[in-house]
Amino acid sequence: MISVNGTLVSEGAGGVYGERMIGKYRVWDPYRSKFAALWYLDSSIDLPPGSVVLYLGAANGTTVSHVADYAEVVYAVEFAPHPMHDLLMVAKMRKNIVPIYGNATQPQRYAPFLETVDLVYQDVAQPNQATIAIRHLPFLRSGGRLILMLKTRSVDIRKSPEEVFTDTCMALEEAGLSMVKVVWPLPHHVDHAAIVCDLV
Ligand code: SAM
Repeated sequence: MISVNGTLVSEGAGGVYGERMIGKYRVWDPYRSKFAALWYLDSSIDLPPGSVVLYLGAANGTTVSHVADYAEVVYAVEFAPHPMHDLLMVAKMRKNIVPIYGNATQPQRYAPFLETVDLVYQDVAQPNQATIAIRHLPFLRSGGRLILMLKTRSVDIRKSPEEVFTDTCMALEEAGLSMVKVVWPLPHHVDHAAIVCDLV
């Protein structure tokens, strides 16, 4: 990914959410985006040109818009009406965002609109985050990558964040994923862990 004097940026038309510009580049803020926060910890996290991305939990499209600056196409799934409205506005400004108004617990409903992807990026604060990720593995190509932003408190408040984190990693490994990097907690994003794994 591109950095300008150590600042993560993406190249695309600005004015999506009032982001700062450095010349032709849009500054990608780690305080607003977990993806950017992860990159600042490990700059080998990449979105190679030509990538096809399935993004679960698109919200109002802030991070989606940066991902779309790098990727060939981003399938962006969101189930709440208000953020979806904003996401549609963002998708109008980018030719490579496919907004999907759908529930990530039911991928069979939007499966006909998808293709095989290189990356599944998931950022949904739900109790069943591992299950949601596993249900999307049929769309991930062999050798493809899952980045799961795990909100530990949303899974089970009776369990400690460490337990939730460990259980989630185990569930993903049992589903055929190989851990590449785990970060807990994720800087700037309280209660979140980042889990990066590849489909073997
Ligand atoms: N990834 C966004 C970003 O960086 O700009 C922020 C995502 S926000 C933390 C989580 C989003 O996931 C919310 O907009 C919420 O409506 C959405 N969400 C939660 N559960 C979902 C589900 N089952 N299906 C689709 N979207 C979901």
